[in-house]
Amino acid sequence: MKIRPLPNLVNSLALLMLLSFSSVINASLVVNQTALINPKGEWLNHGRTYKEQRYSPLTDINKNNVNELDLAWSFKFDTARGMEATPILHDGVLYVSTGWSHVHAIDARSGDELWHYDAKVPKSQLAKTCCGPVNRGVAIWQKDNSSPLQIFFGSLDGRLIALDAKTGKENWSVQSTPTDGNYSITGAPRIVKDMVIIGNGGGELGVRGYITAYDVSSGEMRWRFYTVPGDRNKPQESEALKKALPTWSGEEWYKLGGGGGTVWDSIVFDPELDILYIGTGNGSPWNRDLRSPGGGDNLYLSSIVAINPDNGKYIWHYQTTPADNWDYTATQQMILAEIEINNEIRSVIMQAPKNGFFYVLDRKTGELISAEKFGHVTWATHVDMETGKPVESEFADYQENGGSYIWPSPYGAHNWQPMSYSKKTGYIYIPVQTIPAYFSGQKEVSYKVNRWNTGVNLNESRSPASWVAAKASLDALVYGELVAWDPIKQERAWTVRHPKPSNGGTLSTAGDLVFQGTWDGAFAAYDALSGDQLWQYQSDSAILAGPITYELDGEQYVAVTQGSGGVVMLTIGEEIRKNYVNQNRLLVFKRGDFNLERLTANNTMASLESVKFEHDLDIARVKNGEYLYHNNCASCHGLDAKSNYVVPDLRYMSEETHDNFATIVLGGSLTHKGMIGFYETLSLDDVGMIHDYLRDEQTSVAEKLEMTFSQKVEYWFNYAISKLGEKFPEILNATRDSIM
Ligand code: CA
Repeated sequence: MKIRPLPNLVNSLALLMLLSFSSVINASLVVNQTALINPKGEWLNHGRTYKEQRYSPLTDINKNNVNELDLAWSFKFDTARGMEATPILHDGVLYVSTGWSHVHAIDARSGDELWHYDAKVPKSQLAKTCCGPVNRGVAIWQKDNSSPLQIFFGSLDGRLIALDAKTGKENWSVQSTPTDGNYSITGAPRIVKDMVIIGNGGGELGVRGYITAYDVSSGEMRWRFYTVPGDRNKPQESEALKKALPTWSGEEWYKLGGGGGTVWDSIVFDPELDILYIGTGNGSPWNRDLRSPGGGDNLYLSSIVAINPDNGKYIWHYQTTPADNWDYTATQQMILAEIEINNEIRSVIMQAPKNGFFYVLDRKTGELISAEKFGHVTWATHVDMETGKPVESEFADYQENGGSYIWPSPYGAHNWQPMSYSKKTGYIYIPVQTIPAYFSGQKEVSYKVNRWNTGVNLNESRSPASWVAAKASLDALVYGELVAWDPIKQERAWTVRHPKPSNGGTLSTAGDLVFQGTWDGAFAAYDALSGDQLWQYQSDSAILAGPITYELDGEQYVAVTQGSGGVVMLTIGEEIRKNYVNQNRLLVFKRGDFNLERLTANNTMASLESVKFEHDLDIARVKNGEYLYHNNCASCHGLDAKSNYVVPDLRYMSEETHDNFATIVLGGSLTHKGMIGFYETLSLDDVGMIHDYLRDEQTSVAEKLEMTFSQKVEYWFNYAISKLGEKFPEILNATRDSIM
């Protein structure tokens, strides 16, 4: 070991003093690669640093004083949709995106808005989304001292937009997706080597996935990487696609929209290895027998793919779900870390995708180090370490079985809500959810623009047990968890159970804390080692996004965006509350006592008056209407027409809405609100039957809510039996026994 001579130490001290002096006179970092590797007290990348660990070294707020946290200020947005954005904090400014592709720059000291940009997305674009007009955040970058500091984000209609960070004025905008297809953008861009990397979404409707790199200054395209092969009769765009082609059969995938594999969320960069990692989405259509009749793994669906960031060339891949059949995306957040496995420090990439297995891979080679179930999983028994592939269970092939009851559902055991990794505890903090699904395949897909094209019967797919559970407000089968996961032992260290699924992303800190919001508008801090809850703030709408923490003027802050939305809240969220408004806010906390008016939720349950209709409803028409509703309307308005406060609950339609029902549903008279006309897919008679079904729901909802607990269970049990007959009596009986 070399002993440093004294003069060096003196020099180091002088340098240190100089550095701290210069940081006082020029506190602002240049937001480049160096800054994204070490953002100091700021939050400069989606997952804070390039490693996307969502771990902060700040300790001013810690487990001994976190009970002193209070809401310092909040900012109310003028949207009322899902809030999934992670804010960026730089130089005293918070940059936040909201639903409908707005971006706000907010003074982090005063809470005042500095500028607001509206991408003016046509509301009809909503029909091309699976899960609401959400946006998961912006990116920030400054190429050099003579270039402007810029904010980048993707708009719902597929544009990539560069804004001047000081003024909010548009520097450039490029259309990154074909406007005549089923594409959308909801994910946050990442900046790598003066390029903006952006993916897109649309896997439920039918698109071909890709990511694109654009020059930060000009918006000029640098390269594009397609995740699945194109038309087999045409040349493929890359060597990687030529290798992937033999893993696909037939020609259906590109005739039915493009095969899927969209990169709608996680993109991670390792500056040391100079590798870009992307997580790819599910197959499109979901049903593999319709997508690739004749089998095949269908590369590179549901995979982690390593790419050369300079030219977009393939390096390696690991497919988490070969021959995806269940909407098991591998787009969920990926974390880079160095962890010790068998006395060796390994550079790993880790992911907890929808399919319920936690993966640890060597990020240089793609070698599978380990994979174990982190949630409730029945589609596969285990991952075979010889082949590196999951072993499908008897339930997996629903086409062959004529329908299967499976965990996880397409909601995933873990979805877009980001997880975090604490170097200090060694744990990954995962927002886990348990929701089963009943899968039933269709015989064919007639591909349509603006519609889901999954090849799965979404009416039949409503699980009888989850109906029983969700409708009777039971927590036995459908629930959420905050899980501290040990990635070395591949097991849970501790679990906090939440009564409902769809809870928030996590943040962990060197102050031994984990922060997470929940479906009911609570925001809490937990002891990172034990899971004990140490502090909580109750707000007035669901908190689902990933929280951030930063230092400003020598004080540590914690901030998070709130707003109910996303696919779980939209379809199996909570019971309606009368006059409940989805509040989109940015909440900013620090230690102190600020005595602000509390943002308390109105918890009054809707008082329901039975609506009596003049004529008797024809039960056959109601049943047909129910089928049509669940294949055309339920992804936005909720299963069994039980929406929540994100979109109008159709069981509470006003007289005026009843009168104008066909004009709205067929004619598109509410297109300006995002409800397009369905004249291309539904007939006037179809709409009449959907209306009859909704009248029936509206008539019976009051009776249902007046039932006792056991009456509700019995009611929904019988309801489930009536839907699926005696198909799964054992499951239903077991369900009833476990909750009665
Ligand atoms: Ca999907």
